[in-house]
Amino acid sequence: AQTYGIENWGAGYFSINKKGHLVVHPSEYDRRGADIMEILEDLQRRRIQAPLLLRFPQILVNQMKKLTGAFRSAIKEFDYNGRYYGVFPMKVNPRREVVEEFLRAGRRYDFGIEVGSKPELYAALANEQASDSVMICNGFKDESYIRLALLGTELGKNVVIVIEKIGELETVIQLSQEIGVRPLIGIRVKLYSKGSGRWEKSGGESAKFGLTTSEILEVIRVLRENEMVDSLRLLHFHIGSQITSIKRVKNAIKEAARVYAKIRAMKINIDYMDVGGGLGVDYDGSKTSSESSANYTVQEFANDVVYTIKSVCEDEDVPEPNIITESGRMLTSYHAVLVANIRAEIETVVGEYESVKVDDDDPQVIVELKDLCMGINSKNYAEYYHDAIEHKDEMYTLFNLGLISLEDRAKGEILFWEVCERTAKYAQNDKSMIDEYEELRQMLAAKYLCNFSIFRSLPDSWAIDQLFPIMPLHKLDKTPTELATLVDITCDSDGVIDKFVDLKDIKETLELHPFKGEPYFLGIFLIGAYQEVMGSGHNLFGSLNEAHIVIEDEGYLITKVVPGGNLGESVETARYERAALQESFGELAAEQVKRGRLSAERANELCRQYESYVSCYTYLS
Ligand code: PLP
Repeated sequence: AQTYGIENWGAGYFSINKKGHLVVHPSEYDRRGADIMEILEDLQRRRIQAPLLLRFPQILVNQMKKLTGAFRSAIKEFDYNGRYYGVFPMKVNPRREVVEEFLRAGRRYDFGIEVGSKPELYAALANEQASDSVMICNGFKDESYIRLALLGTELGKNVVIVIEKIGELETVIQLSQEIGVRPLIGIRVKLYSKGSGRWEKSGGESAKFGLTTSEILEVIRVLRENEMVDSLRLLHFHIGSQITSIKRVKNAIKEAARVYAKIRAMKINIDYMDVGGGLGVDYDGSKTSSESSANYTVQEFANDVVYTIKSVCEDEDVPEPNIITESGRMLTSYHAVLVANIRAEIETVVGEYESVKVDDDDPQVIVELKDLCMGINSKNYAEYYHDAIEHKDEMYTLFNLGLISLEDRAKGEILFWEVCERTAKYAQNDKSMIDEYEELRQMLAAKYLCNFSIFRSLPDSWAIDQLFPIMPLHKLDKTPTELATLVDITCDSDGVIDKFVDLKDIKETLELHPFKGEPYFLGIFLIGAYQEVMGSGHNLFGSLNEAHIVIEDEGYLITKVVPGGNLGESVETARYERAALQESFGELAAEQVKRGRLSAERANELCRQYESYVSCYTYLS
């Protein structure tokens, strides 16, 4: 049976049961599982329909446990004299439920939070977090950002203000002296080392963030001058998200650890080293350094960070710092599954070859296409296929000159596609036709209309061609016989998915089951990082219906349902006002009544109907 590589990319969270349904597990070792089709049925009864987002908070917690566990065991193994403090970078998924889950469950793991802007800081400040945990403030800062951060310091939180730009330091010094608080200060260092993969440019000499070596020395000088050098507690770097190769991680840590050690040797008690995010997620299951994967495990990452820092510190004879990570993608990717239903198959040609009647009165080009169709065989197919392409081009030229009819054009199209289908069958094992065969397969692939918006729910697929695993949520006990690409419901030709995770390579089509109109649900996986927050309101498609699921010994509990955005809310994002729209609609109807084109009764009915649409889901129902 086709498993869509779930055993490679699923990290143990997903499996297939005897009914051929997809099952979600709270952790890789947990045999408890929830059948997604049962969840969908339950939700349907509550009038929550696809497309929807299923959130599994237990997976968030398990990922946090995995990351913390990996660092704690590396610390033990290498006899490291510092502690580990994870922080969750809020920008990866700022939804309240996600952040609260990390901070609530994270109390056991000293888990804190990282913010990169004023709004993130504003939201994060009011949350309770473990007393030992830290709050890291990254991003460019103005006076009000720094004042807000210092509110947190006065509230008793371990707020670390990370200097990204030298100019920020002066404000931090001035405001903390004015208020009378002792801030915790960090510095972000610009490393020479780079990451690898799509976000490689986040590191290296020309990176957007970070202080150069001379700026770091200047920070130290200014802090000393103000008798505040004790406030300098943290050294931070981040060389980009989704680092695909462990070698780059090691190089960066080596360099940063040296910087730390040199500062420490200047008798500055900096005691936290924040290694940023970047821990890669294996989206394609290949465990290689391909752009959608990573060639290392979480444990290997933790071991390399801990071991490398330790060896540099031993070499330089300085104390080992506490270690902070800002991994976000690894923590959140797995916990959210997008469920979208197939609405239709968009046919390339509609019509049966058998129904095409061609006689001698038909234009020559059509007669010839018919002959190609009849005569094609395993010996001549390459030649016949090339002839068919020529005839098809000729047919369109004749049509544009007004020389053949719409009926002729319809016949010609059906005949041409029939030649293509027959060629594809013959060319399957022909090495000399390899490129043409691939092209044909792509052309002949079905297009399944999938009820969701790529721009809203999968922006990285559109913007940077990122791969996400996609597979049916049921019928997994039946062999899929159709090759298909997916198109979304936006009015944009870019709203297409034609790259899919496969066992060996990236595939341009997905194997799916024939679609005859009955419910058919696909799951899009590993979308919990960045996708929700980066998605846009193209075509005014709104937020998705959402359900939170906790997996129990016997089945599961739906702990929360959040209805998706409706038409009223959606138009408001483009600054329409619902009341004003209804009023204008009413005025247009009244005008028609005045002109005698509409009865008053019918006009009232139209207004009533228009008003009722305000609560309609923005997706196809
Ligand atoms: N920290 C900083 C400063 C970042 O810019 C990012 C994202 O690129 C992260 C943490 C999170 O990285 P990731 O989600 O790859 O772990």
